Amino acid sequence: MKNQRLELIKGDITTLDVDAIVNAANNSLLGGGGVDGAIHKAAGPDLRAECVNLNGCPTGQAKITKGYRLKAKHIIHTVGPVWCGGYRDEHSLLASCYQTSLSLAKENMIKTLAFPGISTGVYGFPKDQAALIAVSETKRFLRKNVFPEKVIFVVFFDDSYEIYRKLLDQ
Ligand code: ADP
Repeated sequence: MKNQRLELIKGDITTLDVDAIVNAANNSLLGGGGVDGAIHKAAGPDLRAECVNLNGCPTGQAKITKGYRLKAKHIIHTVGPVWCGGYRDEHSLLASCYQTSLSLAKENMIKTLAFPGISTGVYGFPKDQAALIAVSETKRFLRKNVFPEKVIFVVFFDDSYEIYRKLLDQ
């Protein structure tokens, strides 16, 4: 790992002891499957109660809540694009997810932030292209900002781990 402020972990993002984790949410922000369902289950029902008051979130944007029963103090909910072959602005929308999440982390003086692979599950974004966007947008943000001090990419599968490892070793 060349950049001391970046880390790669294989595991369950809901268990991490960090200041904030990012959720791959949907536009309703009211919970769903995948990592979203796991986060809502682990955080408990008070999370949904807070999310109801947020009135959803547009694709490419992000909103912050408390972490409730998670070790993480905050959850940054961002809505990734559904992959439609790359013709519907998916790349810039995904880049915007990382930019807006990192900006919210900065505003809240979050030191440690963990990202799952936004849009790479049910939303079908090709994993290699998504990881390239995740790493390049994060590096660009960290070069200009003190917060967050550290960003952790969390993956579930070995193939995703390899994709990130290669990018982070470059
Ligand atoms: P999306 O709808 O944005 O595609 P998903 O939740 O379906 O979101 O998947 C996003 C990514 O999160 C996938 O790469 C999936 O393997 C991964 N994932 C699912 N559950 C967890 C978890 N508990 N911790 C970390 N990553 C997870």
